[in-house]
Amino acid sequence: MKILVTGGAGFIGSHYTRTLLDGGYPGYEDAHVTVLDKMTYAGNRDNLPAAHERLTFVQGDVCDLDLLLDLLPGHDAVVHFAAESHVDRSVASAADFVLTNVGGTQTLLEACLRTGIARIVHVSTDEVYGTIDEGSWTEQWPLRPNSPYAASKASADLIARSYWRTHGLDLSITRCSNNYGPYQHPEKLIPLFVTNLLEGTPLPLYGDGRNIREWLHVDDHCRAVQLVLAGGRAGEVYNVGGGNEQTNRDITERLLGLCDADWSQVRHVADRKGHDLRYSLDESKIRDELGYAPRVDFARGLAETVAWYQDNPYWWKAAKDRTARTART
Ligand code: NAD
Repeated sequence: MKILVTGGAGFIGSHYTRTLLDGGYPGYEDAHVTVLDKMTYAGNRDNLPAAHERLTFVQGDVCDLDLLLDLLPGHDAVVHFAAESHVDRSVASAADFVLTNVGGTQTLLEACLRTGIARIVHVSTDEVYGTIDEGSWTEQWPLRPNSPYAASKASADLIARSYWRTHGLDLSITRCSNNYGPYQHPEKLIPLFVTNLLEGTPLPLYGDGRNIREWLHVDDHCRAVQLVLAGGRAGEVYNVGGGNEQTNRDITERLLGLCDADWSQVRHVADRKGHDLRYSLDESKIRDELGYAPRVDFARGLAETVAWYQDNPYWWKAAKDRTARTART
């Protein structure tokens, strides 16, 4: 078994890759993994083992058809994580989101089609559904994405579905809620707040902090992706939720408590443009069909995540430094 993982040097893709290499997915203990990653500001080679007999690392772009046609033959499956992933960046400048998330997905699927890849999982997000005041989204819900990031992911989902429907690619789509865990880039809410607390700098809380997200540990998300890879049906979408809804204020409160700090550290800043109020997934399909259930208790997972950032300042300081340098150039 040989699997190509796009975006495998990022937060979630690297967790999936490390777990595969550690033999964490039954039946895939011998799988060889090729990581294809462009190494944008979000990619970090330190997220993966420096050397491993079952790992091949390739720096490259999912928009590069020639590279993909060269690389893909011999692979049995593709798990597609690569994306521009930060909503704020998409609000500031959306072009790269369309290029990578839409164009890159189409290019990858075209290459999969031409090289006869047997199985594909396209990793998407709950943000494609928009915002929901009450109740939860099933997979049948219409796509009403609000940010350029979410719109680019929704577009990619439709392209992916079309490659299944038109060409018969054996492809499934996952739509997951907000992830947290170690190795998440410090531009995202939880690592940003934890690392700011560790540095003694203010926590910029958007608006009134009442926006609600459903939080899931990265390990649970990756296990769901693996279940879908191994047993998901072609052409189907699987929601992956945590069932753990928290306002941004709740998250802030928990992080302040875990870091022995108080609300004097918090600065209320102008709300994100078009900020979705609430996300909530109905995940009964993946539970019923594939036996999925999240395992990581939120309080425990969050405490362990905070401890990881406390123990690994070299990792997040380098990431913050790299991002600051990129932002200046
Ligand atoms: P990330 O930003 O940490 O990692 C993205 C990776 O993709 C990076 O390593 C980057 O270098 C790579 N990449 C970017 N453009 C590329 C290109 N053109 N070619 C090849 N590689 C490229 O993102 P993440 O948080 O790990 O998210 C991974 C996937 O999961 C994304 O598709 C995202 O939409 C989805 N997702 C994320 C969350 C979340 O909470 N983080 C939730 C649901 C779904």
